[in-house]
Amino acid sequence: QEGGNVKVVVRVRKHVKREIERGAECLIRMDPHTQRTTLLVPNDTDPANARSNSRKIYEEKSFTFDKSFWSHDETSPHYADQSAIYRSFGEEFLDHNFAGYHTCIFAYGQTGSGKSYTMMGTPDAPGLIPRTCQELFHRIENDPTPNTTYNVHVSYLEIYNEHVRDLLASRPSSSSGGPPKDPAAYYLKIRESPADGVYIQGLTDVAVRSYADISRLFRIGDANRTTAATKMNDSSSRSHAVFTIHLKQIQHSLTTDSVIERSARMRLVDLAGSERAKATEATGQRLVEGGKINKSLTTLGRVIAALADPKRSAAFTSASGKPGKKGAETVVVPYRDSVLTWLLKDSLGGNSKTAMVACIAPSDYDETLSTLRYASQAKMIRTRATVNQDAVS
Ligand code: ADP
Ligand code: MG
Repeated sequence: QEGGNVKVVVRVRKHVKREIERGAECLIRMDPHTQRTTLLVPNDTDPANARSNSRKIYEEKSFTFDKSFWSHDETSPHYADQSAIYRSFGEEFLDHNFAGYHTCIFAYGQTGSGKSYTMMGTPDAPGLIPRTCQELFHRIENDPTPNTTYNVHVSYLEIYNEHVRDLLASRPSSSSGGPPKDPAAYYLKIRESPADGVYIQGLTDVAVRSYADISRLFRIGDANRTTAATKMNDSSSRSHAVFTIHLKQIQHSLTTDSVIERSARMRLVDLAGSERAKATEATGQRLVEGGKINKSLTTLGRVIAALADPKRSAAFTSASGKPGKKGAETVVVPYRDSVLTWLLKDSLGGNSKTAMVACIAPSDYDETLSTLRYASQAKMIRTRATVNQDAVS
């Protein structure tokens, strides 16, 4: 068993068209040596600003992370492109998977901060998910040892309105041939059992043999994500997408004639926009949806707060290695209060090596400050990763 903290990195994106058009200034500074990220909060109430519009006074808020990725301007020598992000910890996490550890990488941040760009990316600039999958098959195909059999399965789901939707399932259809009127026909149930842990009942789990197989599934999944959300064109800001890869390695030792099975699960999560965790001023249906999205994100916040609680950390590191009675009693982690946190129970504070990518926009101090605070808290979380290995004969 290996205890470790959740790895937390932050990434600032470049200005998008609308920011360039309004002449937005970059409020982020990153120090490549200390990995500090500093946010400049304009202090407009300062009398100095009232006197002169050209000179703004800023208040600096600094945070230290495992890594601060500067993806704001390509001209900087410290510019971090998609491949830099992958090389920095995507690769390391894949190493963990081959060693038999479960991993989880999740992207957090407001809508438009670069979560999907970081996780999935674009055809020209693929993100962590396609790079991880590509490298996974590259390693399998180039394994020089003849005694290991590999087995890869993937699933892709979305949590929308506290409902789980299978993004790889063939859709049930109505008698008229179109999609069924009742959206509940798509919903799957989340379950937990001592043997299997937390799982989604009936979720499509596709065996894949090559990167081409997987990239076909990305397209199906992403198309399903958009189809269901035709009326809500900003569905990705409201839903959480969870891509899961199961890697099983069956190793036949010729010297001892034994068979060892190692299974690792990778979860790659693109969360709903973090602004959804706050009160929404929307009305009607949007309020209902906003409220429900709130639930998974606000619960994630509560789970992180509970896991980051020093009382709990102290219990963790007690000499016996077992959670101390006191810590266990005083800090309740509300995993089961939302679908997202229940599903990610293991990834958050359990048997997993976990990383959070906090994505920030360069010119939005309000949301950025809240993201940086959230990310700082996540750094306190400790997980206990175990190699998932069985001798089967
Ligand atoms: P989110 O998923 O958090 O809502 P997106 O990933 O869709 O945000 O990013 C918003 C926009 O910014 C997209 O047009 C995306 O291509 C662009 N973008 C985000 N991050 C970067 C980056 N690091 N470099 C270049 N463009 C980026
Ligand atoms: Mg997105």
